[in-house]
Amino acid sequence: MKQIEQLVALQMIDDEMMHLNGFLKNAPAELERMEARHLELKDAVAQVNAKIAIITKQRDDLGREIEDTAMKIKKSKNKLMMVSNSKEHQAMMREIDNLEKTNRSREEEKVSLLEELARQEERLDMAQGELKSLQQEISQKKKQINQKLQASKARLEVLQNLRGDAEEVIPKPILSRYQFIRSRLSQPVVVSVGEGVCKGCNISIPPQTYNVLQKGEQILSCPNCQRIIYWSEHFATEEEEAEAV
Ligand SMILES: [Zn+2]
Repeated sequence: MKQIEQLVALQMIDDEMMHLNGFLKNAPAELERMEARHLELKDAVAQVNAKIAIITKQRDDLGREIEDTAMKIKKSKNKLMMVSNSKEHQAMMREIDNLEKTNRSREEEKVSLLEELARQEERLDMAQGELKSLQQEISQKKKQINQKLQASKARLEVLQNLRGDAEEVIPKPILSRYQFIRSRLSQPVVVSVGEGVCKGCNISIPPQTYNVLQKGEQILSCPNCQRIIYWSEHFATEEEEAEAV
């Protein structure tokens, strides 16, 4: 009876250890995923910044071209007043006309460039905002995970000691049977039998086995699922007794 009690305790310890070890194993991966997203976002910000730099340069180049051409137009208009030859006059008028047309289309181009610039700046704002909140999230998560890691490690040490105590009470063959089925079957592998039905597989055990189980003198396995079984009433009584003492 003491042995089965220790087996159930061992199972609880092992379950908790499994859970903690799972956390210890998965926590770094979760942080890595967040860091990867962080890098992606940083990359996106850099790309938008590069685009903005290109558009800004295009805008400035265009502005200079417009200014240069405007100067040319001004000069030509001044010269125009001094030209008396009508053929030459007409040619210059056409030239001025062309220059003015060129500058008009440049102005249009500049307007669409400024619109594009505003769009990219908006994108930059959004990406930077997202980046900032992600950075906060990451540092918070790191703190949380580190705290939990430390707590988990401390708890694992405690459990390891408890486990050692339980292992001392349980005979070696039963312990290895427990470990063998634990590595092969879904948890739990130490289960109660109530009203003749195994909690592990929900199938009735033979009446004869049930009778032996109720005597509480041997550690038995479910003939159907192979899990280690104990009588539910038995164990409850044990617990109640323990509480009473
Ligand atoms: Zn069973």
